[in-house]
Amino acid sequence: MALLAANPGLFAAVLGLFGLAIGSFLNVVIHRLPLVLERQWRAQAADLDGRLATAEPEPYNLVRPRSRCPACQAPIRSAHNIPVLSWLMLRGRCAACQAAISVRYPIVELATGIAFAAVAWRFGFGATAVLACLFTAYLIALAGIDIDRQLLPDILTVPLLWIGLVASLWLGAGDAPPPAVLRDAVIGAVGGYVFLWLVFHLFRLATGKEGMGYGDFKLFAAIGAWLGWQMLPLVLLLAAFVGAAVGIAMMAASRLGRGVPIPFGPYLAGAAWIAMLWGPAIVERYLTFAGLG
Ligand SMILES: [Zn+2]
Repeated sequence: MALLAANPGLFAAVLGLFGLAIGSFLNVVIHRLPLVLERQWRAQAADLDGRLATAEPEPYNLVRPRSRCPACQAPIRSAHNIPVLSWLMLRGRCAACQAAISVRYPIVELATGIAFAAVAWRFGFGATAVLACLFTAYLIALAGIDIDRQLLPDILTVPLLWIGLVASLWLGAGDAPPPAVLRDAVIGAVGGYVFLWLVFHLFRLATGKEGMGYGDFKLFAAIGAWLGWQMLPLVLLLAAFVGAAVGIAMMAASRLGRGVPIPFGPYLAGAAWIAMLWGPAIVERYLTFAGLG
């Protein structure tokens, strides 16, 4: 522990390796959580209709059954479950049937590892780095599920909001968030939700279209709880800017028609992560640049 506290580089390397393993778990969350939720919703719908829920053949959750190849159903051996390395060694193919394994899995693992290392480097050894890694993991899972399913599940966004608020109860004095000072966190949580809710309804009144979903409001509220209300304008600006750039690029590549909904969650998540690491510095530089600081 003392060794980690004294060596920022070592701490970053350790958290980076830990991040690779967490990224492997996040792949499972991104893939399975929507399926688990769908099963629950189907069972509830059957219950409402007075139908008998069809018996599920086997338990399905985040830990069971073990990961299998989607093509040949062969269980994935632990030796082939090492983050990034296994994918490279198997050249992106299933060891049993040679079916291609999506490059997304190593990308999520690598991204999580790099993000954790960056957090360790930025915040140094301590509770803030641990909290920031937890926030990072939630953001990656939410972004992945939103890209796949245009869904930001309550089961992730709501606890994320509570954790942010509770953390600010006994931490959060003086230093840059996370966690934010309690007062900033509460205003951020309420303000984040209400602001996007207003934008949503005004946009719908003006255009008759729905530009985002309630999951976006909850994610923005959680971001406010973690970073404090002061960071929300920056997060929104970054998200809108990158979102517009990617949207235009995709339209130009004609992969999307106009009016096809693009999930906003991944941009919010990415912007929140940037704001967590460099937000205060960006704001300060901007104020100086604008002659206000
Ligand atoms: Zn296979």
